[in-house]
Amino acid sequence: MSDNQLRVVWVYPDLLSTYGDQGNVLVVERRARQRGLDVARLDVRSDQPIPTSGDIYLIGGGEDRPQRLAAERLRRDGHLYQAVQNGAIVFAVCAGYQILGHEFVNDLGQREPGLGLLDVTTTRGEGERCVGDVLADIDPRLGLPPLTGFENHQGITHLGPTARPFARVQIGKGNGTGDGTEGAFNDTVFGTYMHGPVLARNPLIADLLLKLALDVNALPPTDDRWYEALRNERIAAAQQPA
Ligand code: GLN
Repeated sequence: MSDNQLRVVWVYPDLLSTYGDQGNVLVVERRARQRGLDVARLDVRSDQPIPTSGDIYLIGGGEDRPQRLAAERLRRDGHLYQAVQNGAIVFAVCAGYQILGHEFVNDLGQREPGLGLLDVTTTRGEGERCVGDVLADIDPRLGLPPLTGFENHQGITHLGPTARPFARVQIGKGNGTGDGTEGAFNDTVFGTYMHGPVLARNPLIADLLLKLALDVNALPPTDDRWYEALRNERIAAAQQPA
């Protein structure tokens, strides 16, 4: 963190922000401010350069064509890769998650290179899209309560040896490989299929990103009653028989 200011970068809101993913940046901002942090939020459109000085980068999901355009521009820009080499934290959803991997299948049916920031590869599922509410258990080493979210994707994401599954689904498809995994992470880069917005449904993930960015083990507590009500409502909805 430079100048005691936390810099939160919202990557390509013009291309990648489906199903309320913009809420993720609002939640990170708010929870940082509640802890008395000075926050600078930078919304970086796809015709602008990505800054390398961010602390936390958030990326949303998108339809197949905007996803290809975003991947092309992020590769050409190169700064997100550089930011991660500098220790930045990245949290990406769905199309954003796929772009962080080695490659995915684009809207033209071709293999499109990603940024290689996560050891994952995405193919196109032959069956039905993975759509619906999800309930999953997050990797215990992250110390977080169950993950609630909403998924809608055709891509199937396969994890390589240096990516850990972010969660294991109780309900839903997650990575779609049939092995029960959902999302992936390494030390500083996180990918998930969860929309929702996922950080409003799982505010302790936002706190995890803040702790990693600040390099602290704990944050002052917050009043999470509204978040808890939303979580309980969505978890109950996921558990309803279809
Ligand atoms: N286009 C991608 C897929 O269908 C991502 C969709 C999304 O971001 N919701 O797999």
